[in-house]
Amino acid sequence: MRYWIETLGCPKNHVDSEKLAGMLVSQGYDVAVSASEADLVVANTCAFIEAAREESIETVLELADVKRPAARLVVTGCMAERYGAELAAALPEVDLVAGFGESLTSNVASTAVSLRRRPTTDFDLLNLPRPATTAPWAYVKIAEGCDRRCGFCAIPSFRGDQRSRSTQDILAEARALVAGGVKEIVLIAQDLASWGHDRRRGALGEAVEVLDEGGTQPLIELTRALSSEVERVRLLYLYPSGLTVGLIDTILSTGVPYFDLSLQHSSRPLLRAMRRWGDGERFLERIALIRAADPDATFRSSFILGYPGETEDDQRHLLEFLEAAQLDWAGFFTFSDEDGTFAHELGDHVPHELALERLREASELQDAITAVRRDAVVGTNQRVLIDAPGVARSVRECPEIDGIVMVDPTLRVGSFVDVHIVASHGTDVEGVAI
Ligand code: SF4
Repeated sequence: MRYWIETLGCPKNHVDSEKLAGMLVSQGYDVAVSASEADLVVANTCAFIEAAREESIETVLELADVKRPAARLVVTGCMAERYGAELAAALPEVDLVAGFGESLTSNVASTAVSLRRRPTTDFDLLNLPRPATTAPWAYVKIAEGCDRRCGFCAIPSFRGDQRSRSTQDILAEARALVAGGVKEIVLIAQDLASWGHDRRRGALGEAVEVLDEGGTQPLIELTRALSSEVERVRLLYLYPSGLTVGLIDTILSTGVPYFDLSLQHSSRPLLRAMRRWGDGERFLERIALIRAADPDATFRSSFILGYPGETEDDQRHLLEFLEAAQLDWAGFFTFSDEDGTFAHELGDHVPHELALERLREASELQDAITAVRRDAVVGTNQRVLIDAPGVARSVRECPEIDGIVMVDPTLRVGSFVDVHIVASHGTDVEGVAI
C-alpha cells in the first residue's frame, strides 16, 4: 500500500505531515511517487485565513481528479478540525474527513492521533517518529495549541490550549534527527516562548517535568540543552512579552542570533484591540537591547494590515516603526475575518481595498529596508550550511522563509562552509568559498 500527503499551510503543518508519514510507514505503507499512484491520498489542510481555506479546497478537488478511482481520499489538518461536518457534506469526493483525533486509515474514529485533547495513549501525533529527512535542517514542533486569545486568531478554538511536549521527547527527536545528518533544528510552536508553562502548572494532571534550572523560563534551558546537541538551534514565533532578557542572552549564546518576533503591529491602541501585549516603543527598546549586545543580530516579524478600527494614524505609526526598527525580514498580511474570534464581533471594519493599499505601502517600505540590510552583508564572511546543491544559509536566513546564500553547486550538501559574500541579488546573496 502506498500513500501520498499534500501539505498546505505553515511549517507547523509540515511537521504534522511528517509525523503522519511516520505513522503510515509504521503501519506498513510506502510513500508513492505521486498522488495518482497512491492507495491513500491525504490532504493536510490549512484554515488560518480565507485564502488558505480556498487553496486547501482547490487542492482537495485537484487530488480528487488525479487519484486512482479505488484510492481513498482523506482530508485532515486545520480545516478538517474546524469545519469537519461542513466539509464532509460539501465534498462528496472525499472518503474521510479526519480531525486530529481520528485515524486516517479507517472510517472508524479512534483516539490514535490526537493534537487537540490531552493524549489518552502514548500514540500522540506530536511524539510520533518521523521519516528520515534529506535536508540538513528540520523543524521540531515543541508544543501544540495556544493559551493566548489574540483578537484575530481562531487557532486556539480548534487547536485548543497549549500542550507542551516533554523535554525528554523533544531531546529524543532532536538526537534522532542529528543522527540522521541534521545540523540545524528550527523550533516551532504557536507561542514558542511559552513552551513548558502548561507542564509547569501541571494543568494537564501530568508530571511537571520541564527543564527549569534557573527557575525562569523553561524555553531557556531547553534551548541550551538542544544547542549542546546540534550545531544550530533557531527559534521561531516569539511572542514579544516572552522575549525576556534571559531568553535573549540564551539565543545570543547559541551562536544563532536570529529573532523571529511575532509583533503584528506597532500601534498601542490597535495592539490592545488585538488583545496583544506591547507597543512599538517597547519593541524598539528590545531590538536596541539585542543590537547593543550583538550588532549582527537578525530580526524577522509579521504584521497584520486592516484590523477592525485601524486608522491612518495607526498606519503612519507602523510605517515609522518599520523605518526605525530596520528589520531584516518582514511579512505582511491583510486581516481575515474569522468566525468565533473577538475581532469578528468588532465593528469599524476596514475595506479590503484600503487594507491592501496599506499592505502595499508597508511592503514597499520594508522591501527597500531588506534590500539595504542584504547589501550590508556584501563584503562579510559568513559560515553557511549547504542545504541543497548551490543553496546555502548563514544564521541570517531561516529555511523556507528568508532569502538564501547562492554558492558553488559542487559544495557538499550538509556541510558547513566559510564563504565571502560577493554580491546581493534582491533577497538573496552570493557567497564564494574561502
Ligand atoms: S499567540 Fe499566535 S496562535 Fe496564540 S492566539 Fe495569538 S496569534 Fe493565535
